[in-house]
Amino acid sequence: MTAIILDGLGLANELALELKQEVNSLKVIPVLKVILVGNDPESQIYVRSKEKRAREIGINLEVVSLPETIEEREILDLIDRFNKQDEVDGIMVQLPLPQHISYHNIINALDPTKDADGFSAVNMGKLWLNEPNFIAPATPKGIMTLLDHYHLELAGKNSVIIGRSNIVSKPLASLLLARNSTVTITHRQTTNIIEIARQADFLFVATGQAEMVDKSFVKPGAVVVDVGINRTDHGLVGDVNFSEVKQVAGYLTPVPKGVGPMTVISLMEQVVSHAKMREENGAKS
Ligand code: NDP
Repeated sequence: MTAIILDGLGLANELALELKQEVNSLKVIPVLKVILVGNDPESQIYVRSKEKRAREIGINLEVVSLPETIEEREILDLIDRFNKQDEVDGIMVQLPLPQHISYHNIINALDPTKDADGFSAVNMGKLWLNEPNFIAPATPKGIMTLLDHYHLELAGKNSVIIGRSNIVSKPLASLLLARNSTVTITHRQTTNIIEIARQADFLFVATGQAEMVDKSFVKPGAVVVDVGINRTDHGLVGDVNFSEVKQVAGYLTPVPKGVGPMTVISLMEQVVSHAKMREENGAKS
């Protein structure tokens, strides 16, 4: 048996074409501000991939690069300025931030309607409470879009997530629950992780540990979604041992070209959707 590969890049390319048409039909130009603090090379790679996608679609993405030593107050002032500018549709702060800056202060300073990553307490709270008009974090949203594209039904199925981060695993759990899946979250203190993982119809892996999930974690035929991005001596790999797991899984996302491009396109969808709302509300530019 060989798993069907869930082609995130292919789907993201299709969605980008649709978004481009949508943007062409708008009178306003969607605007995304990306705040990048310091010189982390990984962050620069992620920001460049967002710039490339935004350019293709017709989104005006401006990267504001700030020095590592910047004071928190100055970032808060910048966010305040963008919050007040009607023509700004989305603001995102590339993570990680330097140690001396409070992640919580920065994220919660964003106007929740412009919080393009959906990481603020307001958006997370709305997500968990099933309230309308929340912004879902881009990675979990992209994963759901990918599963839907392949008509993979979650209702009544067991979903296991390895990892409990705020930006991926917890919001993913909420979205899965909203689709009537039975969700288990596991982490480093989970004692019988392989046993739990083997119960999964859907196994989501977001640990940041290169290729830690081998075929012993996977129930034959399961859907395996690999969120990890790890740079190793043998190139970019996920948190799943692709060549092994592909022999037992029913469906599997590759790394690269799986969840990564879906994350970026979901962010862009969010910005275009805000621009559409702005136009409907009578914006002139
Ligand atoms: P975090 O580092 O914030 O969290 C990792 C989680 O994995 C923690 O909860 C940790 O448990 C758990 N974990 C680590 N090792 C093990 C282990 N051996 N057994 C069980 N649980 C373990 O990660 P993120 O969620 O931010 O990111 C995860 C991966 O996804 C990274 O590779 C990151 O680069 C990638 N990523 C990819 C994106 C994409 O677009 N494709 C977007 C965002 C992230 P504990 O809490 O107990 O420490």
